This record gives sequence, C-alpha cells and structure tokens, in this order.
Amino acid sequence: MTKITMPVPLVELDGDEMTRIIWKMIKDYLLEPYVELNTEYYDLGLTERDATDDRVTMDAAMAIKKYGVGVKCATITPNTQRVEEYDLKAMWKSPNGTIRQALDGTVFRAPILVKGINPSVKTWQAPITIARHAFGDVYNAQECVIDGEGKAELVVTRKDGSVEKKQIAQFDERGGIVQGMFNTTTSIESFAKSCFNYALDTKQDIWFATKDTISKLYHHRFKDIFEEIFKAEYEEKFNKAQIEYFYTLIDDAVARVIRSKGGFIWACMNYDGDVMSDMVATAYGSLAMMTSVLVSPEGYYEYEAAHGTVTRHYYRHLEGEETSSNCMATLFAWTGALHKRGEIDGNTALMTFAQNIEAAAIKTIEQGVMTGDLYLLSELKNKQKVNTEEFIKQIKMTYERMTGESA
Ligand code: NAP
Ligand code: MG
Repeated sequence: MTKITMPVPLVELDGDEMTRIIWKMIKDYLLEPYVELNTEYYDLGLTERDATDDRVTMDAAMAIKKYGVGVKCATITPNTQRVEEYDLKAMWKSPNGTIRQALDGTVFRAPILVKGINPSVKTWQAPITIARHAFGDVYNAQECVIDGEGKAELVVTRKDGSVEKKQIAQFDERGGIVQGMFNTTTSIESFAKSCFNYALDTKQDIWFATKDTISKLYHHRFKDIFEEIFKAEYEEKFNKAQIEYFYTLIDDAVARVIRSKGGFIWACMNYDGDVMSDMVATAYGSLAMMTSVLVSPEGYYEYEAAHGTVTRHYYRHLEGEETSSNCMATLFAWTGALHKRGEIDGNTALMTFAQNIEAAAIKTIEQGVMTGDLYLLSELKNKQKVNTEEFIKQIKMTYERMTGESA
C-alpha cells in the first residue's frame, strides 16, 4: 500500500491533557499508517507556551495565514489554579482568543449526527451549524453600578473634536446599573463575509437574526451591513449555488429553528451565539460530538474540537485508571483539515481518505461500539462501552473493512 502524499503542509497545533493523548493516538492509528503526514508542528501545550512567553501561539497563527489550513488540539486557558499547577510565568491568554484575533475569524460549530443518538428536538434531521460573532458587544463592554442619584450619558468624541451626547438614564436615590458596549464596522463586515463564504463552501442556507426593531441603530447596523455585503458580493453566487440568505428577527428565528428540519447555518450576534450554541449542542447530544472551525474572511481555516482538554478524565488517567474519552470531535478536526487541504490543493485522494475515516467512525458508533459518554445517550440495543484506545482501534478496523486497505 502506498501512502497518500501531501505536497503542502498543514499547520498542526498540539495541546494539553487528555486531548493531547487522544491527538497522538489518532495520528498513530488512523492517520500516519495511510498518509505521509506533512505538517508544520507547533506545540501549544501550556509548558511550551510558558517557555516561549506565548510566542508559539502567535507563530502558529501566522503559519495558518501562510498555509491556509490548521488543526488545533484543545488547550488549557490558564487561571490562578493553573498558574500554580504549572508554575507559570504569567496567566497567558486563551490561545483560541489569540488565534481568533489574529485571523479575524468566525467560529462555526456543527454536531456530528449518528443513528441511535436522537436530538431532543424531534424535527431536527440534519445538523444546525451555529456561527457566532466572537467579537465585541457585551463581551468587551464597560459597566458601572450607580449607588444613589446620578446621571448616565453616552458621549462620543469624533476626530474633528465634535461631541455627540445622549442621556441614557437619570437615576433616583436607589441608583442602578449602566453598560456601554460597542462593535466595529470592520469586525461586522468580516463576520458577514466569513458567514457567506462558509455558506457557499458547505452549500447551506444561512439565517441571520438580530433585534433591529428595538435596537434601531446598533442591531440595525448589523442587519444593514449583512444586507449590503450580500447584495454587493454574494447574491449572484448564492443564486448559482441555489442557496439562500434569510434575515429575520431573533425571536422569530428561535421559533423557526425549533420547528425546522435543520441543515442550515444560523449566524448569531455574540451573546445569542454564546447561548444558542450551548442549547443546540445539548439538544443534539454532546459537546464531544461537536465540530468547530474558525474561518477567516480571507479564507483561512482552523479546525478544532468544541470541547476542552477533558481535565477530569486526564487526572483519572494519571492515577492509572481507565478512561473513556470521546475522540470524535478531535478526529473530525483532523479530517476536516485534511479534507480542506485536499480541496485547496486538488488532492482528491486526501479528500476521499478524510471522508472514509469520518464514515468509518460514524459506522463504528452505529454498530454499537462507543465511548462512555455516548453509551449513556445511545438508544441502540446492542451497545458496548470501550475505552478511548479501543474505540480508535475499532474505527481503524471498520475503515480497513470498508476500504479493503490494511496497514
Ligand atoms: P471540558 O474539557 O470540555 O470537559 C468538561 C466535561 O465534559 C468533562 O469533564 C466530561 O464530562 C465532558 N467531556 C468533554 N469532552 C469530552 C470528551 N471528548 N469525551 C467525553 N467527555 C467529554 O471542559 P472543562 O473541564 O471546563 O475544561 C478543561 C480545560 O479545557 C480547561 O483548562 C479549559 O481552559 C480548557 N478548554 C479549552 C478549550 C479549547 O481549547 N477549545 C475549550 C474549552 C475549555 P465527565 O467528566 O462528566 O465525563
Ligand atoms: Mg456558552
């Protein structure tokens, strides 16, 4: 058997804890036996981030800009407890945040559907992909508590020195609270472009919703920017691809999503995306069955799992206990990245390989072999719980049976 070659490298971002162990197993059992993996490797494990003063994260982001496609393992975002645990020089920022900022990207999350694990919403037959605008609004806001009488105003000073002032509220002796939030034209435009590109890429309709009837300037601006960019750059392409851009009010969107069959992208403002992605993930089953890809407006892609480093399992693993962590989301990050690499380079063998590995993984679960988290959810009669390594070995067997290859 000759291995599939990759002329252009993929950027590989290694990570932490249980997912770092899963990462290596996936490469050992499912990728390297069949593909001459060509990756530019960056170790984003917390120890290495600390040793390089987090330069390695920025270097990795730059490499994704250079090669176009990256795959990332889950990483620890340090808090005070981690600073102590790893004896860190500083409380380094979230690598996902750093990379997202460098690529100015939007994150798209979609569930992996398998027979036997049924969404809580009965009508959902196809995945709903959530696109969350991960910049600004309440996440970069300033807030004050007003204890007692006072006045809050919105003041904007323009470059020419002119000042626009609006009164927000006059507080009585009981006081109150106030918040000032913002977004930028550049960021909203990037968000819109990433969404439209991804819709074309995956040939799915895209829905977008805000509360523009209430927020006549702020939310309305989002609506207008989407509309302008769509008309100017995407309408024709959408017609050709026979997909649709659909705008509605956020509450109408929520009602329609629940009644829908799925199979579309739902673009959300930052807060809506934060909340709705958790709802959608839970309704489909589990975070371990959720794929995630960061798409930049220029068309750079970074694939990852939606979950974290599964710390609780890792500590048990260190104690010598057997764990049954689910590798699906991490595996699909790899296959997503390999497929995209193949698509960009015209490497059909690599694309087919990625599709077959995904099919083998799904088939393995549908035949009743699964990790503990899925065992609890699956409605299959003949189901069997296995540990992570055994699950990966079973996927390999399914793959070889399907394709007739052996390695
Ligand atoms: P987590 O790693 O997603 O795990 C939370 C819980 O969800 C686990 O304890 C486990 O539940 C279940 N779970 C998640 N992934 C699973 C999988 N693949 N297979 C089976 N069960 C799975 O979140 P966390 O414990 O809040 O965070 C751990 C670390 O990850 C933190 O240091 C955080 O900074 C980091 N993090 C990184 C990313 C990222 O890099 N994208 C995202 C989020 C969090 P049970 O224990 O009940 O089995
Ligand atoms: Mg959330």
